[in-house]
Amino acid sequence: MQGMPAQKTGLRTRLKAISEQHTLGLSLSLLFLLSLILCSIVLTFWLNWQVQSDGQRSLQQLEQFVDNTRQVLQQITQQPGTGNCSDETITELRKQVFLSDRLKEVGLMDDNHRIYCVSNEGSVSFRLYPQTRERLNNAYQGTTLSLSKAKMNQSQSLFIYYMSDSGMGADALLRPRTFLDITDKELNHRGLPVDIKVIGRSLKPEPTEQKPAIFRSHQLTHPHFPIELRLCITYEYLAWYLIKHSWLGLLLGSLLSILYLHNHLKRLSRNSLTTSLRRAIRKKELEVYLQPIFDQNMSCVCGAEALMRWNHPDEGFISPGIFIPLAEQLGLIEDLTDLVLDQVTELITHHPELMVGRYISVNISRQHLLKRHLADQLHQRCLEHPELSRHLLIEITEDIPFSEEEMKHIVIQLRQIQAMGIRLAVDDFGTGYSSLDFIRRFPFDLLKIDRVFVKSLGAEDAIEPMLEAIVTLASELNMEIIAEGIEKQSQADKLASLNVHLLQGFLLARPMPYCDFILLLQNNHKVTNQQTLPVNH
Ligand code: C2E
Ligand code: CA
Ligand code: CA
Repeated sequence: MQGMPAQKTGLRTRLKAISEQHTLGLSLSLLFLLSLILCSIVLTFWLNWQVQSDGQRSLQQLEQFVDNTRQVLQQITQQPGTGNCSDETITELRKQVFLSDRLKEVGLMDDNHRIYCVSNEGSVSFRLYPQTRERLNNAYQGTTLSLSKAKMNQSQSLFIYYMSDSGMGADALLRPRTFLDITDKELNHRGLPVDIKVIGRSLKPEPTEQKPAIFRSHQLTHPHFPIELRLCITYEYLAWYLIKHSWLGLLLGSLLSILYLHNHLKRLSRNSLTTSLRRAIRKKELEVYLQPIFDQNMSCVCGAEALMRWNHPDEGFISPGIFIPLAEQLGLIEDLTDLVLDQVTELITHHPELMVGRYISVNISRQHLLKRHLADQLHQRCLEHPELSRHLLIEITEDIPFSEEEMKHIVIQLRQIQAMGIRLAVDDFGTGYSSLDFIRRFPFDLLKIDRVFVKSLGAEDAIEPMLEAIVTLASELNMEIIAEGIEKQSQADKLASLNVHLLQGFLLARPMPYCDFILLLQNNHKVTNQQTLPVNH
């Protein structure tokens, strides 16, 4: 569990990091691209809508102009003395032309659609074209328009006709440019091609230069008067408009990227080891494994060490060597020990028949040991489960030397724990600071020889006398001995010759899940000899 999976996990993590970097870059580029596309679509719609609105406003302006002219014509028609083309009448007509900067000529029309008096020429006589007559007869508010050559000077002119209910009426002559001038502000500020048609005829001369490619043209028709507008959006203008407003797409892209990065970082931090550990403890995702301890003399399992395992959903198994110090750093070690104690309590209380004469050891970290209430917490547990203390062993390591103050506090706590009937072991004896002083200051029940000694057994000459000394010391202090890290039969044999009979190591069994341990206990009540000790490689 320790070697290969750790390498695999490292490789997997690196590969994941590389692929995440690529995915992040790709996602951000995509976000910018999508933002630009989205903005372009919205801007295109917006431009269409604006051009359409320009057209609507222009039509309204033209309607307003036609309406004003109609009122002038109506007024002329109602003047007393109309019906003949007297000097007064002509003067009156000229006055109207003079007052207006757009009307070039006004005339009077009898009930036979005949123009009989005009401001410029005076008395005339010509009938309206039949189509104009027809339009006028059905005209909205008795008003219609026409675009044709003026009878007088044969130049293309724009006419507005008005006919009252009595059939009498008037007309006004305008330059064709008039409508273009009126709508100039609304229609020409973009420099887009526009055209205005009256009775289907264009007011503009046909352009001589090459026509630009049109992206979309908007056709607007007045509901009452024969006026049409055509506004065109060219590809060239659209491209210019989109480039001009591309900052909107970039802004949107930046905002979305910030949001995305924010979420991404949140997700990363959620998945970071620290956050994951907090979550794992809260959700009880950590699992206790049990590594059996064998008694060579009795040839049976005499107990087990509870070892925490964390099977991270993405990272796989994470070594306790990583997450235990992390839990200590984050102040989560108490919660973590509580988890172990919960599962060990369950094992002991749910399987009393398998626990007879056996113990389960739990590692208590240095930080937890320094907390005032460890003994109280254990006391509370033992009150709830009186059988617990008989089967519980607490393993303590002095990995960093305790100060005098700390040592005093620890000794008080250990005494309280021992008074509850819980046994205490000094772990990793012979390494770090787990020194003679530690066992001198407190009467531990058990001493665990660290696996570095076992490993060197047979390889280094000094180890055997050292182990002999430890065994003698332990027996003088009335302590039992467990040897950790037995990987070879020769080591087990050597330890037996040194009178060390309680063994823990991969040779005998690896740490295993709760259910496997129960099965092991059920099947191995009694193991006949060393060779047949169960091995779980
Ligand atoms: P430890 O208390 O010395 O636990 C024994 C370690 O030796 C375990 O490593 C076990 O898997 C390993 N081991 C057992 N037999 C052999 C063997 O034959 N060969 C080798 N090479 N290793 C063997 P693990 O489970 O990785 O735990 C490492 C350390 O993490 C433990 O050392 C202990 O200090 C700490 N730890 C594990 N679980 C807990 C826990 O629940 N609470 C606290 N406070 N510490 C824990
Ligand atoms: Ca231990
Ligand atoms: Ca140990």
